[in-house]
Amino acid sequence: MKRQTWIVSRCEPWPSGEQCVEIATDVDHLDPSLFWERDGSDYDRLCIEWSDPRDAVDAAIKVRDLWVAESGKPVKIDHANPVFYGMDGKTDAELRAWAIKTYDEMPRCVHCSNVCQEVGMPGNYEDDVTGESFHACCDWHAELYLYAEHCHSEIEEETTA
Ligand SMILES: [Zn+2]
Repeated sequence: MKRQTWIVSRCEPWPSGEQCVEIATDVDHLDPSLFWERDGSDYDRLCIEWSDPRDAVDAAIKVRDLWVAESGKPVKIDHANPVFYGMDGKTDAELRAWAIKTYDEMPRCVHCSNVCQEVGMPGNYEDDVTGESFHACCDWHAELYLYAEHCHSEIEEETTA
């Protein structure tokens, strides 16, 4: 199953050539003008795939600050992708608000509340009895949830009978 991640990269999209930091949700969305940061630099450390959108935004902001200091030119950040011909750019406050909202909307495990990051699934487990789909971080937590659910309904049935 594919896990949801946020990929931070630097690019200079054609034809504007403006300096952009992209927060992409898919490798396919990365702009072809992106820099391959494989040199052990701070960019290399920050321009990676993040599993938490809040960390991705923090990294993108650090990349922007480094790049502005280095180039003396403005740098935009956006999470809208793909980047076509340039980007609108978002403020730090807008980016952080987006990251918090995105994180809050990520599916949680019904047992331990940990984030489950599989992409595009209504629920990664299904209750064979009720047909209900639900999210769980692992098979064990799915089992515990189902066990608790069905014990409950059996007790209820006994008391109402
Ligand atoms: Zn769990």
